[in-house]
Amino acid sequence: MNRLILATRNAHKVAELHAILTAAGLDVELVGADAYPEIPDVKETGVTFAENALLKAHTLAKATGLPAVADDSGLCVDVLGGAPGIFSARWAGRHGDDQANLDLLLAQLGDIDAPHRAAHFTCAAALALPDGTERVVEGRLEGTLRHEPAGTGGFGYDPILQPHGETRTCAELTAEEKNAISHRGKAFRGLVPVVRELVG
Ligand code: IMP
Repeated sequence: MNRLILATRNAHKVAELHAILTAAGLDVELVGADAYPEIPDVKETGVTFAENALLKAHTLAKATGLPAVADDSGLCVDVLGGAPGIFSARWAGRHGDDQANLDLLLAQLGDIDAPHRAAHFTCAAALALPDGTERVVEGRLEGTLRHEPAGTGGFGYDPILQPHGETRTCAELTAEEKNAISHRGKAFRGLVPVVRELVG
């Protein structure tokens, strides 16, 4: 069976991609970056989601000799010209403080009315081979931003993004409902034919 490594230490992401590959009938063993603890985390020096995803995938592919998948994602707000974008995880200054990031964004948009609160999550999913071959696929989840958070599920900006066609925020959807429409789900599903072509 072909081994594929996913550049994340998040077991949920590994499980999500594994489920998508299996559902597509691909016989691939998927491991997380935890299987290679000696490889340091990659600095995200790119200026687009695709650059960062490719950077992580190439680094891991070279270090392990395995085909590697990596993703990079974030929230893009129209009225902010696409910000926080690649800075989504550290918008309030510290990496990964979801509550502070969300509070800051809501404060910044306080005076902006509903018609101008369009935003989307974007995810770039990259596959890199040890020989340098690369592919990248992007997925989006479009919606509008609430004035107040709602829901307890999910993470990050989920409590304020209401997907188009929904009356609930992402944090009020079940994990299955969110995966079916999410930027990450779309990007990972878009990667299936690429994995089939390049990994088998
Ligand atoms: P990562 O690239 O998956 O690490 O995500 C970067 C940041 O983007 C996260 O810390 C969140 O702030 C935001 N983000 C990405 N995807 C989602 C999502 O599905 N829901 C909420 N926030 C997200």
